Amino acid sequence: MIHDIIIVGAGPAGLTAALYAARFRRSVLVLHDGSARAAQIPLTRNVPAQEGGIAGPDLLARMTRHAEEFGARVLEARVTGAAREGDLFRLTDAQGTAHSARAVILATGVRQNQPPLPEDVHQAAVDTGVLRYCPICDGFEHRDERIAVLGCDISGAAEALFLATYSDDVTLLPRRDVALTPEERRDLEQAGIHVLAAPVERFEPTDRAMLLHCAGHAEPLVFDVLYPALGSRPRSELADALGLTLTEDGKAPDSAPFGTQVPGLFCAGDLVQGLDQISVAMGHGAVAATRAHNWLRARDGETVEAVLDHDEEPDRS
Ligand SMILES: Cc1cc2nc3c(=O)[nH]c(=O)nc-3n(C[C@H](O)[C@H](O)[C@H](O)COP(=O)(O)OP(=O)(O)OC[C@H]3O[C@@H](n4cnc5c(N)ncnc54)[C@H](O)[C@@H]3O)c2cc1C
Repeated sequence: MIHDIIIVGAGPAGLTAALYAARFRRSVLVLHDGSARAAQIPLTRNVPAQEGGIAGPDLLARMTRHAEEFGARVLEARVTGAAREGDLFRLTDAQGTAHSARAVILATGVRQNQPPLPEDVHQAAVDTGVLRYCPICDGFEHRDERIAVLGCDISGAAEALFLATYSDDVTLLPRRDVALTPEERRDLEQAGIHVLAAPVERFEPTDRAMLLHCAGHAEPLVFDVLYPALGSRPRSELADALGLTLTEDGKAPDSAPFGTQVPGLFCAGDLVQGLDQISVAMGHGAVAATRAHNWLRARDGETVEAVLDHDEEPDRS
């Protein structure tokens, strides 16, 4: 079967795209490998209209049902290969099954770099809130607490400065080396942020605190929460395989929800350069699905305007 649109990824971006595309009466297949970052969220409090918060897995379950209600098919399968063959995209999954579509939306997200902890210990620490990854999402929940930020470089410094919005007790620690410019040090000092030089050698999350065992310290340092600022790795292998030119950071360009230089290929969510947030991913999903639908309409010659529109370079209007 040739689908109108295959969406890779069943996070907030992919599932929003699926909802929109299904409601445009497109045949939609969503392929995902069950590893959405959104599934790691114990309780998100900044998703609009979710007062009181919602757990990531609940949000994904609701979004999946919503997309399926309008006919989208959601299938668990890891996509391992992607190619363009003539006018079609051909995606191969880990079982060796090939899936064909006229348009593709990649919503494959990123993987964050984590401190060295076994996966179950790591997720338990995320669940209890002593380990966090997103100051924009949950800094508010740590007002006036003892906050540690891991990563003594420009990213760590920026994160620590942002978190000073919430607490006067913010400490920046290196994973290995301190790589701060004199200007960054000055800014941190002015904001009252402590900068330690001792690398963290061991991470010990408990139910209530994060204990950091640092080189040269006999006792662990105790914090209410740790924010690793270790960056992330975009899951852009499929985009790369399809010939998309990626940014220096390996992400899809910020125009990719609107269209890419690969005809019929659109991207959405964290994979795209920008703010890694659920509400942004949802917005991208809506844009990418609408653009993909209009691109297909143009292909089918449904309106003169649509054809003209899609002969143009992708823009942001
Ligand atoms: C602990 C934590 C807490 C967070 N808290 C918040 C918060 O409170 N508010 C907020 O706005 N944001 C929060 N975020 C960020 C938020 O999770 C992301 O911005 C959001 O999930 C991005 O959605 P996405 O659909 O782009 O990617 P994801 O949710 O990561 O989904 C990616 C999808 O791609 C699939 N995939 C990738 N590669 C393949 C492949 N090769 N084959 C098949 N499937 C594939 C995965 O299975 C998954 O379904 C948090 C993140 C973390 C880690």
